Amino acid sequence: MPAGAQRIDVTPIPCAPSVAERPVLRERGQREVFCGLTSIVWLHRKIQDAFFLVVGSRTCAHLIQSAAGVMIFAEPRFATAILDDRDLSGIADCNDELERVVQELLVRRPDIATLFLVGSCPSEVIKLDLAKAAERLSLMHRGRVRILSYSGSGIETTFTQGEDNCLKALVESNALDRKRAPEPKSLLVVGTLADVVEDQFSRLFHDMGIGPVAFLPSRHSISSLAIGPNTNFLLAQPFLGETARALISRGATHLLAPFPFGVEGTLGWLSAAAAAWNVSKTCFEAATAAPAARARKSVMRYQERLRGKRISFLPDSQLEIPIARFLARECGVELVEVGVPYLDRQILGAEIEQLPADVRLSEGQHVERQLDRLRADKPDLTVCGLGLANPLEAEGLRTKWSIELVFSPIHGFEQAGDLAELFDRPLDRQKRLES
Ligand code: SF4
Repeated sequence: MPAGAQRIDVTPIPCAPSVAERPVLRERGQREVFCGLTSIVWLHRKIQDAFFLVVGSRTCAHLIQSAAGVMIFAEPRFATAILDDRDLSGIADCNDELERVVQELLVRRPDIATLFLVGSCPSEVIKLDLAKAAERLSLMHRGRVRILSYSGSGIETTFTQGEDNCLKALVESNALDRKRAPEPKSLLVVGTLADVVEDQFSRLFHDMGIGPVAFLPSRHSISSLAIGPNTNFLLAQPFLGETARALISRGATHLLAPFPFGVEGTLGWLSAAAAAWNVSKTCFEAATAAPAARARKSVMRYQERLRGKRISFLPDSQLEIPIARFLARECGVELVEVGVPYLDRQILGAEIEQLPADVRLSEGQHVERQLDRLRADKPDLTVCGLGLANPLEAEGLRTKWSIELVFSPIHGFEQAGDLAELFDRPLDRQKRLES
């Protein structure tokens, strides 16, 4: 970057003060969401030397086997240590049993570099102190494997919060922040990205002279990443508040930005890094103009079909607000209600401000009341969890599974058209059925 280069002038989506004043409908009641164990499905694909050992019941085992159905034919990197019904006096046995399972697993799988013990919510598991068990097992297997723990319990987590807890455990583990000091200024991208998307962003950062860049999680769990006052981080997913706070408490700086969904979000996200690295406007435009133009063109294919369509989001993935922003601003969708499991204003402030003023924002879940509103609203499309989709389809409402938003590559310029297409597909199917 030439000395004295001008800072870029791409309009980032601002964090407006009125966010705190925006009316939010707060719901507390029965929830219809998957638990945090679900995130093992995408985490184990990404972190290729990690193993996820769920400490849970047969229900937990069934959940991850059916959520990750296709993987049962491969040598999987997840399993469930099943604890049968036991009374309190069985705790010692539970710890012994866990030690035995871990020992057998490590002998059988020498490729495992990091083992996550993932807690769940059956009462026998809650009585187990998994953090202590991980410490004890780490000592027993020191030098061979890193053993961490986190909770994927349905009592504490919605399905994407499992990733937040996992990444927070990685940040807090010594292996990440014990490295040499002082570290050079670096960029950390936080949140699971498909490998192809990670490569695209790496190229864009490289073209702008931004780096070194690391990704959390990365393909290898033992990364050479260090975290400290010279670490600047961008969140790639809006459900990583606890991880962000763990990074900040280690001195890292959060680069506030919209999330990289659609052209605007991706430009705003990249421009936050570019501003921190004093990238010139010329350089920024040279790096982003062609992919942004391709992305606009690919989104345009769906604009005509999506414009004016009324869409409601039920609270499920925590991705609702940035995706709704993309649909409203870049595809002309009319948002009816945008529900989120919880509203993290620190993380989502810049995004909330970009939603149309009249959209109904709701936080938390009271499924019966939300379904009543939905039936009255009759949107063209409802984005919701798997459990609600089939009954709503049976009532004649078109749905989109929100879990697809975490399983599909949707970040960045090259995926912007695919993101729009995800919402067009069910509407197009209905049109064809009616014709
Ligand atoms: Fe069910 Fe709890 Fe196990 Fe999740 S963690 S599958 S909610 S028992």
